[in-house]
Amino acid sequence: MTDPRRSIPRTDALLAHPRLAEARRRFGHAQVKALIVAAQEHARKGDLPPSDVLAAVLESLPGSAAGLRPVINATGVLLHTNLGRAPLSAAARQAVELAAGVTDVELDLGTGGRGRRGRTALAALAAAVPAAEAAHVVNNNAAALALAATALAAGGEIVISRGELIEIGDGFRLPDLLVSTGARLREVGMTNRTSLADYAGAIGPRTGMVLKVHPSNYRIEGFTADVPVARLAELCRERGVPLVGDAGSGLLTPEPLLPREPDVTTWLNEGADLVTTSGDKLLGGPQCGLLFGRAELVERLRRHPLARALRVDKITLAALEATVAGPPTPTWESLHAGQAALRARAESLAARLRDKGIDAEAVGSQSVVGGGGAPGVVLPSAAVALDGAIAAVLRRAEPPVLARVEGGRCLLDLRAVPAEDDDALLDAVLGVPPEE
Ligand SMILES: *Cc1c(COP(=O)(O)O)cnc(C)c1O
Repeated sequence: MTDPRRSIPRTDALLAHPRLAEARRRFGHAQVKALIVAAQEHARKGDLPPSDVLAAVLESLPGSAAGLRPVINATGVLLHTNLGRAPLSAAARQAVELAAGVTDVELDLGTGGRGRRGRTALAALAAAVPAAEAAHVVNNNAAALALAATALAAGGEIVISRGELIEIGDGFRLPDLLVSTGARLREVGMTNRTSLADYAGAIGPRTGMVLKVHPSNYRIEGFTADVPVARLAELCRERGVPLVGDAGSGLLTPEPLLPREPDVTTWLNEGADLVTTSGDKLLGGPQCGLLFGRAELVERLRRHPLARALRVDKITLAALEATVAGPPTPTWESLHAGQAALRARAESLAARLRDKGIDAEAVGSQSVVGGGGAPGVVLPSAAVALDGAIAAVLRRAEPPVLARVEGGRCLLDLRAVPAEDDDALLDAVLGVPPEE
């Protein structure tokens, strides 16, 4: 019989493990090595099975018990809310790292006096949306709407179509948020049809704002009508009330692949006074809410006392700036990945898995945008199909892989997986024990 201690993983092999390599960058080489040596020692004394050494080291890492873990998103859902929506670009990650230290976020180094908070991020937003006179950043799109409703309509009315009273997810209902600001909703039209006359009849002296919401996560088909922003804007201008648009999904300019998704620039050009959107959806940046529009309105919102409670930290500002001014985001890359390239990656991964004796096959697949965006839009994709039973095991792999189970098979959809993560995906599948 061989001595089980001979199967204790070697130090250099453990140090090279992706999660421990990452841990070395975070906590330093010496600390990680000490944890490895301690776990090996336990195994040598017979207190720990050699196969559990890696798990023991991972468990003993500082803060890892409650910490977030990097996950490979093989679901085919580009913006997976439970996986934190948009992953940041390498440029945004670097900016976050830099911003985490002491920075000039609110200091003018030229004069030594106070500077406009986040001015470089605001400049990046201005360059990205020239149609906006001004911009402001808050914690998320819900906060942007709460700020607009509070500053413009508290104690008055928000005119909104019944077809746009939406629930976004996890029980979050937009109307509840709006009413919580002290504004009342003046609902107009019907679920499926709202006309310009409906709005015209409802706007009055109590109207604080008219709100146009993009119903981002569902679509009504059939006998429907709604009022385009351009016509609504004309009416609002005549009546002297601001038109606020919740575009939701984070596009600053039109995206040809998603022709039904509204974008900030188009709505502003059509006459909306203020447009809100999310930072961590199709924009591909950090969680935040963006407000664009007329300088006078943006300033009113910025000066409102509530704005202070909704303001973002320096790390968000840095990530946002790098996202807006930087190279294409991972979200953009995923959206635009060609089906042939995805298919080639799936074929190659499946072949490499078959070489190791794993039953794997490249198949066609269908991805979606997710994050409550682009309902009904299907993005043709490619996946590696494995035995359905493996999906649960993969969630506990290193790194964890979130797959999709379809027709009894486990699909690893590659659209939301950056190509550079293919090797990590392969290792995770290969590391799964053959029979559980
Ligand atoms: C996602 C979404 C919201 C909420 O945005 P958060 O950034 O998650 O607060 C609001 N409105 C619409 C139309 C959305 O799509």
